[in-house]
Amino acid sequence: MLLLLKFDSKTIRKPIISKATLETNALINILRANVGARKGEMVVEVDDSKARDVEEVFRRFGVEVVELREGIVKDEGRCVHCGLCTSICPVEVFEFDENWRVVVREERCVHCGVCIGVCPCNALSLPVNSINKDLKFHTI
Ligand code: SF4
Ligand code: SF4
Repeated sequence: MLLLLKFDSKTIRKPIISKATLETNALINILRANVGARKGEMVVEVDDSKARDVEEVFRRFGVEVVELREGIVKDEGRCVHCGLCTSICPVEVFEFDENWRVVVREERCVHCGVCIGVCPCNALSLPVNSINKDLKFHTI
């Protein structure tokens, strides 16, 4: 399961990822992060069997947690299959099929939001609340 973690000025400097790992024995894979002095956001991947326990630890320490159940959405009515998104996505969500049409492997999406800005047809969107557009995510 993918979780979006939102840290504020009180939680940003605490070793909460380490605490969650130690308390739950879960492996927490950080996929995306933007951590500043006063706030930050991370997208992490946790095994489904441990996700509830990990969420509970984050929430207990004051971190806002959003489950990312859906990945990028492509509006088929707008997409012209230009392929720009295939070159920019860091985790290869977009692929050409045998008919040179761009298909989406939504389950790979880590919600970085990069593809949305490059699509010339405004065909791409992320679920509401999945990302803070004021923060730019960086590859770790
Ligand atoms: S960049 Fe936009 S129009 Fe081009 S293939 Fe991707 S979704 Fe379709
Ligand atoms: S939001 Fe990021 S990870 Fe998801 S499809 Fe777009 S570029 Fe790829």
